[in-house]
Amino acid sequence: MSRNADWLARSQAAVWHPCTQMRHHADTASPAHLPLLPIARGEGAWLIDFDGRRYLDGISSWWTNLFGHAEPRINAALREQLESLEHVMLAGFTHQPVVELSERLSALTGGALGHAFYASDGASATEIALKMSFHYWRNVGRPEKAEFLCLTGSYHGETVGALAVTDVAIFKDAYAPLVRHAAHVLPTPDFRLAEAGETPADVARRAAAGLADWLEKNGERTAALIVEPLVQGAAGMAMYDPEYLRLARQLCDQYEVHLICDEIAVGCGRTGTFFAHEQADIRPDLMCLSKGISGGYLPLSVVLSSDTLYAAFLDDSVARAFLHSHSYTGNPLACRAALATLDIFAEDDVLAANRDRSRKIGAMLAPLAGHAQVKHLRQRGMIAAFDVVSDDPSFSRRFYRAALDHGALLRPIGNTVYLMPPYIVGDDEIALLGRAIDGALERALR
Ligand SMILES: *Cc1c(COP(=O)(O)O)cnc(C)c1O
Repeated sequence: MSRNADWLARSQAAVWHPCTQMRHHADTASPAHLPLLPIARGEGAWLIDFDGRRYLDGISSWWTNLFGHAEPRINAALREQLESLEHVMLAGFTHQPVVELSERLSALTGGALGHAFYASDGASATEIALKMSFHYWRNVGRPEKAEFLCLTGSYHGETVGALAVTDVAIFKDAYAPLVRHAAHVLPTPDFRLAEAGETPADVARRAAAGLADWLEKNGERTAALIVEPLVQGAAGMAMYDPEYLRLARQLCDQYEVHLICDEIAVGCGRTGTFFAHEQADIRPDLMCLSKGISGGYLPLSVVLSSDTLYAAFLDDSVARAFLHSHSYTGNPLACRAALATLDIFAEDDVLAANRDRSRKIGAMLAPLAGHAQVKHLRQRGMIAAFDVVSDDPSFSRRFYRAALDHGALLRPIGNTVYLMPPYIVGDDEIALLGRAIDGALERALR
């Protein structure tokens, strides 16, 4: 008797799962049927179900998990924190983990972003950054600067405010009437759009010219441009040249517009540098972090702001203050998990080890470049992706299922298959991911 079966039935009866057509779980006879997996425990890069089956977590549990499940050092740090302080409100109070984390994050930006504001999820971080930018312009006497800019295919979260700067139809279309103040959507520098003879840097310059055009006419009323630096994750791991960020930074300076870097997915070493924007040698005015920042342990997000921005809120008037808050803002356990995560980066020289690891992932995927139905094989650090040529609307679900049968959790976005594994996968695990991709491709394309 499968122990999984009981949890499956109970979950389907009581839990409304995210980003899921629940019918696809329930209807086992349907060709679209998707198995729901009850996970009993995690161990390193592996997820283990109640029947003892193991799945290699090739996408870091939705891009959150950096050092594997049940990481002993993060576990120990959390146990210790539990013994002293599980939570205290952050208005009027402070505590060691939140102070230390804020200091260390600021130091990681070279001091450019001196203050940290906390929330619990990425969408909230986006909304906080938008509100801070908007409120900054009011505070400095330029309330007409109230419009936001985002890129084609951008994803910054799914709450109603964050949807204003999100350009992914499946998440946005149904709620479009609710979004009161949608941002203007600009051309993306996605290098898959290269025309004959164009390099990725050419595509970046072409997209930046679109930004320049818009700002020339509308800079006066623009508050901020929000971007996912180097990789637009939910768009299907759309990658672009750092040149775009360099040009965007110059244009934002020229037209006095804030540059918001949403590093929720690409921060914390994912693209090879600790922050993705470092590869363009720039700093944003505001930066959002979440997902990997707590090692994939606890809900935590952070908005880091420049001192100029912060200073504009200092006044005797409460109305000029940033009154935003969430109940769990700056939760000590989540901050402690983040500190333990940052410790591991230093102790294990993670960025250097990942250079080697990402080379091996690249070598493992390289033969796919010759596959007749594979296009745009691409990689930036610990993110690798390729697009599959197929008209089958259920390709993604069929690939996902087949990969599970090969012992790997891989969840394509549309026709884009990608790897975003924890920073601990070894040679054998990389080889297993390769076999799972080959096997799943063969089955899903049959
Ligand atoms: C995941 C993600 C978000 C939203 O974070 P949630 O915690 O899911 O709300 C925002 N921006 C980017 C780039 C993301 O990848």
